[in-house]
Amino acid sequence: MRIVILGAGVIGITTAYELARSGTHQITVVDTSPEIASEASAVNASMIAPGHAFAWASPKVPGILLKSLYRNDQAFRIRLRFDRQFWRWTALFLKQCNSTDAHRNTLRKHALCVYSQHRLDHITREQSIEYDQIQQGLLYLFRSPETFKKGVEHSRILAERGQQTEILNADEVVDMEPAYHGVRAKIAGAVYCPTDGTGNARMFTHSLAEICADRDVEFLLDTRVSALTVDHNRISAVKTSGGELEADLYIVALGAHTPLLLKPVGIDLPIYPVKGYSLTLPVKSRHRPPRIGTVDEDNLVAFAPLGNSLRATATAEFAGYSSTHRPKDFQPMIRALTGLLPNAADYDSPDYKTCFRPMTPQGTPYIGFTKIENLFVNSGQGHMGWTMACGSAKIAADLIFGEEPEIDAAPFRLT
Ligand SMILES: Cc1cc2nc3c(=O)[nH]c(=O)nc-3n(C[C@H](O)[C@H](O)[C@H](O)COP(=O)(O)OP(=O)(O)OC[C@H]3O[C@@H](n4cnc5c(N)ncnc54)[C@H](O)[C@@H]3O)c2cc1C
Repeated sequence: MRIVILGAGVIGITTAYELARSGTHQITVVDTSPEIASEASAVNASMIAPGHAFAWASPKVPGILLKSLYRNDQAFRIRLRFDRQFWRWTALFLKQCNSTDAHRNTLRKHALCVYSQHRLDHITREQSIEYDQIQQGLLYLFRSPETFKKGVEHSRILAERGQQTEILNADEVVDMEPAYHGVRAKIAGAVYCPTDGTGNARMFTHSLAEICADRDVEFLLDTRVSALTVDHNRISAVKTSGGELEADLYIVALGAHTPLLLKPVGIDLPIYPVKGYSLTLPVKSRHRPPRIGTVDEDNLVAFAPLGNSLRATATAEFAGYSSTHRPKDFQPMIRALTGLLPNAADYDSPDYKTCFRPMTPQGTPYIGFTKIENLFVNSGQGHMGWTMACGSAKIAADLIFGEEPEIDAAPFRLT
């Protein structure tokens, strides 16, 4: 079978890897960028975090969104404009903001994250891949006693599902992460998930792409995909800047750009590009970086050591496909970070980036065949696409090869 995969982010490449295992298919991966994993898969917070698989849509979120309309310092930011994609997405998102849907979506996300982490470990062992991984847990840190109490209650949803969690007071947090020694008074406590971790998604994706190339997967980089041609409910070709490509099966893994390609062929997926801000700081010998990753839950800033640097990400901005940024956009994040880790990295040499989380209203991705026979989607992993990638790819391969996925794939079906 000739298979074309559109998108060379962590989702496209893990999918190519799973499909290339059998060695019997002719696989081509197409990406507009000259590099593998150049977008969200390159700038994320690096967290492999089943312990943070909570659905975004919850009863308290409408109030937070409302506040973000008139305040600019919030973790959520909305740039109000005429944008059909935004209003449709928001209507579907608000519908999920009740405790029943929030609970169900959280459990579905968690099941995929746990399965995916297991697949990631399996591939890493099988292929001996190094990706600056730190498998020593993550701290979900709370600054005030009130948020800590709520966070502990919240964590029970996942603990009841078998997620290992430990509740730490401030002294125990400092014992766990000595980098917080000087700021003990600012910490109320933390939920520690010992099986979570961090790792460089871009590095992992590059290694996996090399393995794919050894298995004769072809890469067409620097090649923009512009349209799909439909003929008798089948895709007959994909139009690219390098000409037309023909295949038996087409897999769309374009992250936040997926809906732009699918809408003209009548598939209107609610995936919204939720912009995130990503900061990378060099770490020199004089610095005292943290040992493990942390989410500062009161400020919604995630940060982690990543090779010789410190990576921090924050903010969910709804502003369409605008990727612009100014240094002042990063100030709330830097304030939160320096407040906890004043000497962790070189704050004078920041590398600023933005990228889009391909968010669905419910927080779970779309993995499955579409109403067009030979068109398949693996997209919409949102704020957890690095965590969910290897599991999503295995589910995709199982569905394509007519095998039963190892976890229930019904929640990811395109409806
Ligand atoms: C700030 C931030 C922090 C995050 N932190 C975490 C985290 O800690 N843990 C976690 O699990 N997840 C995290 N995520 C989410 C995760 O990074 C994404 O879900 C994941 O990278 C999505 O992968 P993807 O392959 O679908 O998309 P991408 O990596 O965006 O790849 C899509 C690819 O499609 C290509 N493309 C787009 N349009 C076209 C076109 N027309 N033609 C050809 N190619 C095209 C792009 O060049 C790109 O290579 C974070 C995301 C952001 C933005």
